Amino acid sequence: MRQIPRIQIAHLPTPIEPLSRLSAYLRGPHLYVKRDDQTGLALGGNKTRKLEFLIAEALTNGAKSIITTGALQSNHCRQTAAASARFGLDCTLILVGIPDRSPSGNLLLDHLFGAKILWASPGEQESLLQKTYHQAVEDGRSPYLVPYGGSSPTGAAAYAYAMQEMIAQEFHPDWIIFASSSGGTQAGLALGARIFGYKGNLLGISVDKKAEELCSQVVSLATETAKFLDLPFTFSSLDVLVDDAYLGDGYGVMGKMEKEAIQLFARHEGLILDPVYTGKAGAGLINLIQQGRFTKDEQVLFWHTGGTPAIFADRYQDIIG
Ligand SMILES: *Cc1c(COP(=O)(O)O)cnc(C)c1O
Repeated sequence: MRQIPRIQIAHLPTPIEPLSRLSAYLRGPHLYVKRDDQTGLALGGNKTRKLEFLIAEALTNGAKSIITTGALQSNHCRQTAAASARFGLDCTLILVGIPDRSPSGNLLLDHLFGAKILWASPGEQESLLQKTYHQAVEDGRSPYLVPYGGSSPTGAAAYAYAMQEMIAQEFHPDWIIFASSSGGTQAGLALGARIFGYKGNLLGISVDKKAEELCSQVVSLATETAKFLDLPFTFSSLDVLVDDAYLGDGYGVMGKMEKEAIQLFARHEGLILDPVYTGKAGAGLINLIQQGRFTKDEQVLFWHTGGTPAIFADRYQDIIG
């Protein structure tokens, strides 16, 4: 396996904790959580792991500025802005939406970390990203473009190492369940499972697309990431499990199901799920337990991917209602 540059910003290994009260309440399998909501950079989340490799690659390339894009409440953009600040890199974020007069949640933090924010409609996101990148090249600002969700082979490699970390914690759950969107987390975990010999099931709960689309994205990214690391592995759709039954009303919409999951985790474990990602994945986990998908003696790991600041966003105020 080829070694690639890495900086150390994450608090690793993240703890694995039993969810005893939630397990008892749901009368299902033994539930555990891996705390990637506690990766340590600017309120944590899964993008911190990816940024250890992405920022390292940017610095190796001599970059002076970072450009990336995401939704208005993007955790990826918030963590990228924080990592950029930490390494003295200018950060420009292309956010989809309209300028917010009183920013809250992740957007508030983007401003706090000094990121320059450009607003785009969904249709112009990609073109504005390219334009901003080329302008930065012309201006001699040596930009490094971080793809959507940090999900390039460089970013995804981080989750292959995360799998190695879990195995080093001597934990071998029957199932690992997590929120999946741009596919980097799932592709990395799938590759890590292959490299380091994890034999359980990896189930991504889609938060924004149909299973077929996400699955093919994960398959290609896992295969590309293997190639990037000089590993002889290829992946097919048989290697990737995705469930799209919990899309609810779509990306970023907190419905009844997400709210119930958030409240259940909060009230039984004092644990915070977010309305966009882990709320949907948590709802999926609860529903799969209720459907009898797992036996009582199985161990199921909920890999918490973060998203905490979104619960403080204005649009999710009815989280307690
Ligand atoms: C980005 C993100 C995800 C999805 O990870 P991908 O690697 O894009 O699939 C899940 N949860 C949270 C909180 C995120 O910010």
